Amino acid sequence: MKAAVWHGREDLRIEDIPEPPVGKDQVKIRVRWCGICGSDVHEYREGPMIIPKKPHPLTGKSSPIILGHEFSGDVVAVGEEVRRIKLGDRVTINCLIYCGSCPFCLQGEYNMCLRLATVGLAWDGAFSEFVVVPEFTVLKIADAVTYEMASFAEPLAVAVRAVKRSRLKVGDTAVVVGAGPIGLLVLQAARAAGASRVFAVEPIPGRRDLAKQLGADVVFDPAQGDVGKEIAERTDGLRGNVAFECVGSQSAFDMAVRVTGRRAMIVMVGMAMKPIEVPFFRLWGHEKEMTTCTGYVDEYPAALAFLADGRVRVEPMVTAKIRLDDFIEKGLKEMIRSPDRYIKILVSPGGDA
Ligand SMILES: [Zn+2]
Ligand SMILES: [Zn+2]
Repeated sequence: MKAAVWHGREDLRIEDIPEPPVGKDQVKIRVRWCGICGSDVHEYREGPMIIPKKPHPLTGKSSPIILGHEFSGDVVAVGEEVRRIKLGDRVTINCLIYCGSCPFCLQGEYNMCLRLATVGLAWDGAFSEFVVVPEFTVLKIADAVTYEMASFAEPLAVAVRAVKRSRLKVGDTAVVVGAGPIGLLVLQAARAAGASRVFAVEPIPGRRDLAKQLGADVVFDPAQGDVGKEIAERTDGLRGNVAFECVGSQSAFDMAVRVTGRRAMIVMVGMAMKPIEVPFFRLWGHEKEMTTCTGYVDEYPAALAFLADGRVRVEPMVTAKIRLDDFIEKGLKEMIRSPDRYIKILVSPGGDA
């Protein structure tokens, strides 16, 4: 089978490799679509970041490894102990492979597992014609959810978790800073959770249009005027109850502080690689809180339900559909060359593109 195998930094190869065997509690999936995540670009250009440098304690995997974790497909084989999943099921997966026995796993806090592994980073992933995963990771998708839509279940689960971590209440005002792939999903998840208004802040015009199209009430360009004041004027001076920082930068964090009001919550969704300075005095005086979020625990059912009933729309976010052979040139390298032009590129290992 054909697969995109990560061997090292800027050394990704489309190779013909043997199909993986199916263990007794495992499921083999023919991949329909796999989305390119920002983390795939990071692993390609600057990795290894999350890819283990030595064999992973739970999966035993390190490089060479097949990337790809945002995917959908059909079940083509199941191990002899598999009961819940059947041949022909249309599926996606929860990408977290956890040990099940550490103190966090015993409390169901799987994203905090002490030996956590992610499919496509510490387990062979889905930029490949076939992927084999443990049965417990596999989730069936409703008929109303296309394979393209289901490939967004993973980033949408991240977005749903961000909203949960914000403790957003029905009627709250939410502000999303950064309308990239995650920001656009967070904005829709916040709406689905009952936010009365959702504002978005985004410098790229095309992304602002998309934010508007996907339900933002007002969209602001951070370079134009005082966005904090603009939002204050529209909220009787109260500003946002919650802000989602979906960039991971100092300026985006500063914006999140400005657009929120007293007792607000700021969720750091973006992965900041550099330290960020925090104006504690401004947080202190207003009893503002900050939190982080990583991965997901039990957010997939909500994500799949939102996709099925149309509360979250992802089709406008698909910027390109390509074949696995073009993964490097028309996928990763394009996203590096012109990051402003792409929201999500879907890759078809089986030639659907
Ligand atoms: Zn991802
Ligand atoms: Zn664990």
